[in-house]
Amino acid sequence: MAYDLVVIGSGPGGYVCAVKAAQLGLKVAVVEKRATYGGTCLNVGCIPSKALLHASEMYSHAAHGMEALGVEGLTPKLNLEKMMGHKDATVKSNVDGVAFLFKKNKIDGIQGTGRVLGAGKVAVTSDKGEEQVLETKAIVIATGSDVAGIPGVKVDIDEKVIVSSTGAIALDKVPESLIVVGGGVIGLELGSVWMRLGAKVTVVEYLDTILGGMDGEVSKQFQRMLAKQGMDIRVGAKVTAVEKSKDGAKVTFEPVKGGEATTIDADIVLVATGRRPYTDGLGLAEAGVALDNRGRVEIDGHFQTNVPGIYAIGDVVRGPMLAHKAEDEGVALAEILAGQAGHVNYDVIPGVVYTQPEVASVGKTEEELKAAGVAYKVGKFPFSANGRARAMLATDGFVKILADKETDRVLGGHIVGFGAGEMIHEIAVLMEFGGSSEDLGRTCHAHPTMSEAVKEAALGAFFKPIHM
Ligand code: FAD
Repeated sequence: MAYDLVVIGSGPGGYVCAVKAAQLGLKVAVVEKRATYGGTCLNVGCIPSKALLHASEMYSHAAHGMEALGVEGLTPKLNLEKMMGHKDATVKSNVDGVAFLFKKNKIDGIQGTGRVLGAGKVAVTSDKGEEQVLETKAIVIATGSDVAGIPGVKVDIDEKVIVSSTGAIALDKVPESLIVVGGGVIGLELGSVWMRLGAKVTVVEYLDTILGGMDGEVSKQFQRMLAKQGMDIRVGAKVTAVEKSKDGAKVTFEPVKGGEATTIDADIVLVATGRRPYTDGLGLAEAGVALDNRGRVEIDGHFQTNVPGIYAIGDVVRGPMLAHKAEDEGVALAEILAGQAGHVNYDVIPGVVYTQPEVASVGKTEEELKAAGVAYKVGKFPFSANGRARAMLATDGFVKILADKETDRVLGGHIVGFGAGEMIHEIAVLMEFGGSSEDLGRTCHAHPTMSEAVKEAALGAFFKPIHM
């Protein structure tokens, strides 16, 4: 049977593209080599990590965070197996949800490894080795990403002692000590999970700051907060070796600026140095599909590769490796293939770190505005001056709004604080509509809410906050 669209990969990019295309009347098949749909995000990424972040936060809160509220005498007992069971059940309900959506939208889900034979043809090899060839008007490569190693260092990831994020969400006991190589989002989130459950966590980061690329003031303050929680963070440290030892593993690192090397031991080492686009075995070279110098599938402004009829979206192409970016590209591409005008606004893609407190950001950082020579103004408001935050003992953090100095148009928003990942969206919507800090500051916000700090920061950008 000929399809309008064959999608290779059922992660947030691929499955969302498939559903949207089917909703728009196209005949769609999705090829997935995993046993379940949903890609990295639903199986071993966003969803299981958030299940563990929530459960471990509840544990930690019960253990340390309730006495000041007058709730005493709690001594929670950890049942890690049950916690992992909650994570697995969460994954199952989400991946089953994708299977349901395929059925509902009459999408053919085909289990097997896809290979591009050229425009219009995809070969699928099942686990049993049987091959079939699908004919289609358009092919979408949505094969995502895989764990990247440490540049210049040979690391044997066995997912037991030296683990990637995939092993780190499935440990069968709480390690006494955990070294996280890489102070990015994934390392800090999973480091937080195990620290809350009792592990001594050391983070080794090459850059001078954790969360490289985030607003500098935000990452500095956030680093202090994590250190206060007990995370040992070593920045400006270049890892030169990760090796197994008698009782675990050891990591050797030296100051990036030069100096003596240090070796530390731990039960578990988590390698969280980023991800690489995944195109292994896809036959792209044979099909003449060009990659860029970082191994990503090269695409034009309409997600099309250099071979007409072959498109790519998500982690396998340029841009932030985020599930919602992949999803939005999936929707836009489906619209384009259905003859509509699909578009993604890459200037307004929020990023969230789901630690406690959360860190959320959208648009430009101060560093980016300075580098671009844009004249800007800053409005800031701390949660310590917000009534709801005081009531919840969630006063750590602040909101920062960056607006164009002349036009007052909001160019960026950054939040560190409880619930930051939800609050960031009002700034995102405002930016989508080209709104100003005055627009945000004059919008009535319910009292008492954490979101009032967003309004106050906006008031600060165009005039003065009231409560400070
Ligand atoms: P993927 O989700 O990687 O899906 C690609 C799919 O293609 C996979 O299922 C793979 O099996 C399949 N595939 C590959 N090659 C073939 C082939 N030849 N034939 C058939 N199938 C193939 N992002 C967020 O936005 N928020 C988060 O909180 C978040 N947390 C994360 C936590 C962790 C631990 C990790 C690892 C990632 C996290 N991410 C998060 C990133 C997010 O998972 C990715 O950005 C997202 O999954 C990318 O979607 P995708 O559709 O491009 O690819």
